[in-house]
This record gives sequence, structure tokens and C-alpha cells, in this order.
Amino acid sequence: MDVTTPTAPPEYDEFRSRLRAFIAEHAPKPPERRKSGMRTAETTEELDEVKTWLARLTEAGFGPRALVDDEDPWPRRIAIEELEAAHVAYVVGNPLIDSAIVQWGTAEQKERFLPGLRSGQDVWCQLYSEPGAGSDLAGLQTRAELDGDVYRINGQKVWTTWGQWADYGYLLARTDTNEKHGGITAFIIEMDQPGVQVRPLREVTGTSDFNEVFFTDAIIPVADRLGAEGEGWRISTYSLVSERSRQRGDYDEMLTDQLLDLVDVVGADAAEADELVRLYERAHILNLMELRVQSKEEHGQTGAADPAVLKMTFSQLNLEVAEAALRWLDSRSMLVDGDPRAVERGRWQDMFLYARGYTISAGSNEIMRNVIAERGLGMPRERVG
Ligand SMILES: Cc1cc2nc3c(=O)[nH]c(=O)nc-3n(C[C@H](O)[C@H](O)[C@H](O)COP(=O)(O)OP(=O)(O)OC[C@H]3O[C@@H](n4cnc5c(N)ncnc54)[C@H](O)[C@@H]3O)c2cc1C
Repeated sequence: MDVTTPTAPPEYDEFRSRLRAFIAEHAPKPPERRKSGMRTAETTEELDEVKTWLARLTEAGFGPRALVDDEDPWPRRIAIEELEAAHVAYVVGNPLIDSAIVQWGTAEQKERFLPGLRSGQDVWCQLYSEPGAGSDLAGLQTRAELDGDVYRINGQKVWTTWGQWADYGYLLARTDTNEKHGGITAFIIEMDQPGVQVRPLREVTGTSDFNEVFFTDAIIPVADRLGAEGEGWRISTYSLVSERSRQRGDYDEMLTDQLLDLVDVVGADAAEADELVRLYERAHILNLMELRVQSKEEHGQTGAADPAVLKMTFSQLNLEVAEAALRWLDSRSMLVDGDPRAVERGRWQDMFLYARGYTISAGSNEIMRNVIAERGLGMPRERVG
């Protein structure tokens, strides 16, 4: 197995320097207040600015989403590295549906939805979780009933990131109440219609990234069903696994970046340097783990538990970095945005408050451990108590 390619080969230097020059010339100024995680725009102006920038980036051939189909992983990886380092946005909305449209979409669906999704001009959200269906996603209750050439949707979703700005939603709904997994169907829903009501939720970070979404006789044309009736479970599982592997290259860049910033804030002579180095080593190990999975994939040897191992390792480490940052900033860590003495406008506190979210989103770490135990290590399922 080849795991010896931690940096891009020199033939990509020219691509990298063209991209750097493009960012320097065209990218919007990085936000004054840096926020951690999958955060939504707070105003329409902010959203419009990101969309305009993404359109330009994509047109110039540097948009990471538009590079997903590229056989060669390096341009996408380099694009993410450079955009992360410059602190500029490169994603708008939740693009989870991309691989599902590629794999299950009709020719019309591919032509209609993929360009806007990949250039960031259409904002998408993921409508899976419900108040009674998170880890046990197959317990979802939102109904889709066929009525002539449309489905009528009734029910509620929750934790919908980007819901308040979304043009389209990737919806899972129940078309058959007698079958648990086999009764679920995947749909594309237009969010701007009278039967869809979006209510933003206020989070511990003080921002509104999540929403509740209510459907009351919302309409979906049959042509916007993704795959066949009852195939939704298979499609959503495929989406989650392939999206986790496509994210590769984002996690370790993000962590390394945070750690270097932290050195600037606490100072290189800090007594905590030893711990900092250990965290840095772990971020580097995560990078190698990601490359190992990439290598396994190229050799057709991907294990069922690989994405779970990466997701769990990243989110745990990210939380520990945030906890260390608050410890080292001591009383300064309590000051929030708005106080002139707050370090980097409360950025580290924001990272800490958001870090738990990563241990829950896209499958909680407890569920990841179950996946690793059962599918990775072949351990038996056992009920305690
Ligand atoms: C930052 C963030 C963004 C999100 N964005 C979206 C989005 O855009 N769209 C969307 O649809 N959803 C989204 N979610 C929801 C997310 O997918 C769910 O929160 C997650 O699947 C957990 O479901 P739950 O919150 O209902 O918790 P529950 O499933 O109720 O779990 C509660 C606790 O019990 C544990 N638990 C549950 N079952 C087991 C088990 N079998 N074994 C061991 N422990 C178990 C869990 O680990 C957790 O600690 C987001 C969540 C977060 C945090």
C-alpha cells in the first residue's frame, strides 16, 4: 500500500501559484470575526458576497466542488489547502446530495441541479433529521403521499443547517408506513413554496445555523423524486459514506491551521508548548490516516469503518484543541465578541462552543464507535441491561 505522498508533487506548483495569485486578486476580505464549523451566512449581503466569489472561483477552474469529479485528487486538495490558508469561503449550503444525483439522478436532474450546486449559485440543505429520528434515522415520520403527478409532504425536520437560505432540500420522507427502511424515499424539494415553513433556532454560539422545517401539504413533482420509491435508505447511506470520503483533506488542514494560529496567540514560549506539539503530532497523524484511506480506496480496499474512524478522530481532536485554547487563554477566554479585550473577537470561545457539534453531526461519535466495532472489527451486536 502506497502512503508516501503527504505533499503535492512539484508538477502542481504552477497550479498552486496561479490559485494564490487569483485569491490575492479576487477573494473577498476574510471575515473580521472567524467562526468555526459549518456556519451559515448571517445576512443576505454576506450570502450574496460568497455566491459571487464562488461563481468567479468556479469559472476560473479553482472551485473545490467543481473539481470533485476530477480523477486526479491533487487540484481539489490544493484548492482546499490554499482557500483554508487564506480564510476565504469555498462552500455555500450543504452539498451532500451531489454524489446521490451523480449516482441515482436522471439525465434531466443532473443537468438541472449539478451546475448550480457545484458553483455555489443554488443553496441546498439536508432534510434528514427529525425530533424523533436522529441516530435512528430510519424512524423518520415525515410522510410523502402520491397525489396524481405530485407528492404531498407533511411532517417536520430539525437541525437543518442552511435551511433559512436554501433554494432546494435533499429530503427523506416515508412513502410506506409498513416498511421501516424500505418505506423511505429520497426527494429534491423546492424550499420556496407555501407548504414549507423554516424557523431558525438560536444556538449556544449566539448564531442561527440550524432550523426547524415544517411541511404542510408541500408539493414535490414526481420528476423530482431521486431514485425509485423505497430506495431512500440506500441512497442516503451512499450519500453519507461518499460525502465523508470526499471531505478528506479538509479536516487536517483545518486543525493544523488552528494550531498554528494558537501558537501565535499563546506564544511559542508557552509552558504548554509540549501539549501543543502533541496536538500537532496528532493532526499530522490524522493527515496520514486520511492518505492511508485514500490509498486504500485507490486499491479498491476501502473498509466499511474507514470514514467513521476519520470522522471520530477529527472531531475528538478538534474538541481537545478548542479545550486547550480556552485553558491557555485563561480568563481572556471568557470575553466574547463586542468586548474590545476579547482575543480575536472571541474566536476561540466560538470554536469551543461549536466543537461538540462536530462530535454529533453526520452521525454521533457513539454511533461511529458502533460502526467501527461492528463493521470494522466484526464484533457482535449486544444489548446491555
Ligand atoms: C453541527 C450539526 C449540524 C447538523 N446538520 C444537520 C443537517 O443539516 N440536516 C440534518 O438532517 N441533520 C443535521 N444534524 C443532525 C444530526 O445528524 C443529528 O443530531 C445526529 O444524527 C444525532 O441525532 P440526535 O440529535 O437526534 O440524537 P439522538 O439520536 O437522540 O442521540 C442522543 C444521544 O444518544 C446516543 N445514541 C443514540 N443511539 C445510540 C446507539 N445506538 N448506541 C450508542 N449511543 C447512541 C447518541 O450518540 C447521542 O449521544 C446536525 C447536527 C449537528 C450537531
